Amino acid sequence: MPKVDLHIHTHFSDGTLTPEEVVREAKKRGFSAIAITDHDSVDAIAPAMKEAEKCALEIIPAVEFTTEENDTEIHILGYFIDYKNKKFEKLLDDLREKRKKRIKKILVKLKNLGIEIQMEDILKIAGPGSIGRLHLALCLKEKGYVKNIYEAFSKYIGEGKPAYEKGALLTPVQVLELIKNLGGAAVLAHPNTLKSKKLVKHIIKLGIAGIEVYHSGHTQELSNYFLNLAKENNLLITGGSDCHGLGKGRLLLGSVELPYSAVEKLREKTTRQNV
Ligand code: AMP
Ligand code: FE
Ligand code: FE
Ligand code: ZN
Repeated sequence: MPKVDLHIHTHFSDGTLTPEEVVREAKKRGFSAIAITDHDSVDAIAPAMKEAEKCALEIIPAVEFTTEENDTEIHILGYFIDYKNKKFEKLLDDLREKRKKRIKKILVKLKNLGIEIQMEDILKIAGPGSIGRLHLALCLKEKGYVKNIYEAFSKYIGEGKPAYEKGALLTPVQVLELIKNLGGAAVLAHPNTLKSKKLVKHIIKLGIAGIEVYHSGHTQELSNYFLNLAKENNLLITGGSDCHGLGKGRLLLGSVELPYSAVEKLREKTTRQNV
């Protein structure tokens, strides 16, 4: 049975693998299609497609946006978006600039807590793509301030922690509109990270097309809960590993597999031709 992973990061955001490496690793694990879902970047898509041509792997162009509502971060994935759209590229450039400013603000907060990290150190870890808190967490670990990246989030930079700084500049409504205008299908990412089930239901009401039922961070019980929610609300059932290369310790690629029908259903939801 052809299998797919619909949530993967590369080094164009906070993954550690190049697009080419992601393609080769996915092929090795027997996937027939993968979606590249970098935060605020589509720069990995063209090189991934080029590499994928060599081994007959399908690449679904996608992106992951951070939005905020009720003081909670809500990640929304856009699939089959028109990733070559010039206005969209400009918006992504802006979002990446704002990410840098946010990290600088977090560094000031960390300094007040006695932790000295230079922007250059994080930029070295971040590589060519959009900078994010995972890069900062890796830097804190490298400098010995924390034992692992999870401690960095739970002690300093996670939501509500002393060095946390709001990052999202877009609301879910704005992102749903944007994805629609780009011809794509919107999916609520890792719904369990939202603060309440009520908020998940609110996002569903806003008109999201699908929900990530399967995710490397979900227990069987959570997947069952979101599967029922998807069925009750007539939502697409999607999922993925949310692989960050080795950014989260181990390569999560292969930990979540969906049937190819998940791709076909997403494609049916798009408003673009020939995707
Ligand atoms: P940012 O885009 O800068 O807000 O960073 C968000 C990214 O940090 C997410 O996509 C995850 O990769 C990572 N992240 C957020 N919270 C946690 C957490 N509690 N533990 C581990 N990684 C996290
Ligand atoms: Fe990430
Ligand atoms: Fe996410
Ligand atoms: Zn992700």
